[in-house]
Amino acid sequence: MALIVQKYGGTSVGTVERIKNVAQRVKRTREAGHEVVVVVSAMAGETNRLVKLAYEVDPDPISREYDALIASGEQVSTALVALALNKMGVPARSFLAHQIEMRTDATRSKARIESVGGPILRAAIERGEVPVVAGFQGVDAEGSITTLGRGGSDTTGVALAAALNADVCEIYTDVDGIYTTDPNIVRAARKIERVSYEEMLELASLGAKVLQTRSVEFGMKYGVRIHVRSSFDESEGSWVVPEDETMEQVVVRAVAYDKNDARISVLGVPDQPGVAAKVFAVLSEAEIVVDMIIQNSSQDGTKTDLTFTVPKADVLTARRLMEPVAAALGAATIKTDNQISKVSVVGVGMRSHSGVAAKMFGVLSQAGVNIQMIATSEIKISVVIDEAYTELAVRVLHQAFGLDT
Ligand code: ADP
Ligand code: ASP
Ligand code: MG
Repeated sequence: MALIVQKYGGTSVGTVERIKNVAQRVKRTREAGHEVVVVVSAMAGETNRLVKLAYEVDPDPISREYDALIASGEQVSTALVALALNKMGVPARSFLAHQIEMRTDATRSKARIESVGGPILRAAIERGEVPVVAGFQGVDAEGSITTLGRGGSDTTGVALAAALNADVCEIYTDVDGIYTTDPNIVRAARKIERVSYEEMLELASLGAKVLQTRSVEFGMKYGVRIHVRSSFDESEGSWVVPEDETMEQVVVRAVAYDKNDARISVLGVPDQPGVAAKVFAVLSEAEIVVDMIIQNSSQDGTKTDLTFTVPKADVLTARRLMEPVAAALGAATIKTDNQISKVSVVGVGMRSHSGVAAKMFGVLSQAGVNIQMIATSEIKISVVIDEAYTELAVRVLHQAFGLDT
């Protein structure tokens, strides 16, 4: 007998029919002798609808109410799944974040889990019930509703699996595993049987939205076995596991892309100590995550340009915060560009193989794709390019690194 956390994404609970399918699968898992805890996302499209409503009322919504609103989709799906289970004769009970003391910090829209309501869920399991927990939401010390960032139900699932010491966290989604790149844009993408936590962490943070980055962090920290699979069939999916020796043999494991960042350039800032510190301090105070940074070397030693990327959602705020700083520094202009994307190749094999960057740049140049920014780490290389070339870049890199079927 195992304890299994099953997390179902938006598509998997997108219609009444699919909700009944989810309940069937939970029932089968129980009949096989296992205990199940279910975590659900909002029905497909629902969170986007709620986000849009908020912006229609206020283009710069108060974060407390914004989170209260966008967390509400999960209340619907949780209750519907619990209803479907009970109807099938499986005792089940829905739980919202505050009902299980899913405690987070107060950083709205990207809150971090601080503690998880293990005891309440354990009691429900002992009563023979299936707890159906709302993903994505939390509650802060004041009792206000918070959310964990888009895709955050994955993190709810893995965090609960860690807290309950579950045998596995199954992530049910609309693809049957983790692929060498997004299978919805590259037909030649291949399913990966096993991927290391480290690689998955990079892939997730570089845009492969099949798992939220923090869910992988939790998995890695607490050793949760994560199995990503399809809710539409029984096939074996992909496992996220600790790295082993064979993994370094593959140089590039997968290609990821991310269209969610924008580029900001501050032109003509003085080339002096302390300037970058001033610019980035205001952004960090506002909890805006700066990703890539480039500072050009100045032509005549007096003025330079500072270019960096931030999430598109934060670009207006970033600009508003930067304007007084730039003015105080005597910087000429601030320019922003939303039409960019980041394309990355990832693999633990890069530690022991050289020439990956040269090959990547060569392949992109042959395809006529201009590179605007570059960032590297031990196991990844990322480039910023014109958004219009994203699919092309992903396809040619996927092929060049031998990932096509
Ligand atoms: P859910 O609603 O179930 O959480 P998501 O839309 O968040 O599903 O994540 C699944 C999607 O992730 C897939 O439909 C696919 O388009 C996308 N994706 C991006 N990169 C990958 C990858 N490397 N492997 C699998 N899916 C990926
Ligand atoms: N419903 C939330 C979202 O759309 C959380 C999730 O799907 O994981 O981002
Ligand atoms: Mg998701």
